[in-house]
Order: sequence, then structure tokens, then C-alpha cells
Amino acid sequence: MSIADLKLHANVSELLLYLKCPRQVYYTYREQTLMPNISSGYIEHMMLKELAMGYADVVKKAKPTKESILEELSAEFKRVKDELDFIYSTELKNVQFNVIETAQKNVFDLLDDIATNISDAIIKSNKDEVIQSIVHHRTEPVLHSERLKLTGIPSAIVQYNEKMVPLTIRTGKCPEKGVWGNDRLHIAALSMLVEENVGETVEFGFVEYAKEGKIRKVKVRPEDRRQVLKIRDRVDKIKDGYLPERKEGKICEHCNFTQFCTTKSTLASKFF
Ligand code: SF4
Repeated sequence: MSIADLKLHANVSELLLYLKCPRQVYYTYREQTLMPNISSGYIEHMMLKELAMGYADVVKKAKPTKESILEELSAEFKRVKDELDFIYSTELKNVQFNVIETAQKNVFDLLDDIATNISDAIIKSNKDEVIQSIVHHRTEPVLHSERLKLTGIPSAIVQYNEKMVPLTIRTGKCPEKGVWGNDRLHIAALSMLVEENVGETVEFGFVEYAKEGKIRKVKVRPEDRRQVLKIRDRVDKIKDGYLPERKEGKICEHCNFTQFCTTKSTLASKFF
């Protein structure tokens, strides 16, 4: 089945978009592009994502000391700097070098903290445990389930204690404990897809908070699964033509749909 065919079903990124604003699902599905602002912050996000893909290698190569981890992390950072414009050639096409330079400096400034947190994780559990929770068995596989009517691409599938489980890399702030609500839902949706693809129950997944080098294990609860199915149905309805209520909030200030996102919703959509 081609990616174009899979587009007919809801995908996990649409579920996440729905959590931000249901109307953004409506407009993006109708070929309106939600243009990312290629700021230094956005490039920082790309760099952190690429850097985090290499954390397992960093842990494998380094001695279990912060200094050794920092040394390997710096080598990984250099690789990301050198390869970024090959990986994101379209996005970085017209970006001024000083914008890229600012992002590079910001990510470089995070390396010390990341090394500290990875080293703490090794001390708390052990090197093999850390590697196992983040080493990629498959990177960014396209997962689809006809039964679930859902498609999604996890950052990776990892093999943890003989179980295949999803891993997602997030580049925002890491919460004090556990994971953010949206990340929990993301892992639930991806776990359901992995389950359908490997034919085994998936009870947990991992969120890797790249900016701080922290790894959080997330248990998938029945209510998370219920929520995934509920939002999937709402996304399907929106794709069928249902215009949801306009969300009024700070998010609208930075949304490029603002200019035409004025149509009043129907009374029914208030209860949607
Ligand atoms: S302008 Fe606001 S309500 Fe409309 S799509 Fe954007 S974020 Fe959603």
C-alpha cells in the first residue's frame, strides 16, 4: 500500500495536531500548508532530534563517566552539524547562515547537561538498560493497521527485554516526572500500531527528551487507548468535512490559518 493510500486513514500526527487545535486538522487535510517558521528554534529542534538518534551509540562507545559521555556526545554533535543540510535540504534551502549558527550554539550549550543526565541514568540503572531502551531496532518505520484505521511513524522501535516497543523523540522541555499528556497519548497510539504489526501486546513505550538527555518509560493504560480511538474518530469526521469549533487562544497568534479561520462553527460542533 502506498503512502498516498494510507493518507485516507487518520495518522498519529493528525491525532497530535487535533490535541493542539482540531481546526488545524481540517485545514491541513484540505491541502493548506501549516508552514513551519524556519527560525533558529526550529533548526534547534531538527538538530536535537538528529542528535538524540545517536544517544545509544554515545552510551555504547563512552566509558560510564560524564566526561567520556561528553566527549562522545561532542563527536556526535559534530556529525549532526556536518550532515544536517543533507538530511533537511528542503527546509534549510534558503535559511541564512547566522540563523543556523544560532541554533548550533544553542544546542552546543546543552551538551554538558545532556551528558550529566545520561550519566545519571547509567548510574541509576546500568549501561545495558539505558542502551536497550533507546537503541533503534528500526528507525522511523511506517506502521499501518487496517483494523485500527490508523497510520503512524514512531522515531524508532526498540527491542526491550525481547519486546518490540515504540520510542518517540521529543525536543521540548522534559516534565519533572513522567511524560506530558500529549506524549502519553502519542506512545499509546504508537503502541497500538506496533501491537497490530508484531502481533504481541505492547504495554509500554519510551519517550526520549532530547534536550535534556532524559528517557522516560510510559505504561500504556486502557484509558489512553480509549482516548486514541475517540480522537481518531473525531479526526476522521473532520476529514469527512466536519468543521470543528474555532479554538481561541495564544496558539492562533502564531498560526498561518488565522486569516481564513473565521467561519463560525455549527451549533453541533460546540459539542464535538
Ligand atoms: S487560527 Fe486558531 S483556531 Fe484557527 S486553525 Fe489556527 S490555531 Fe486553530
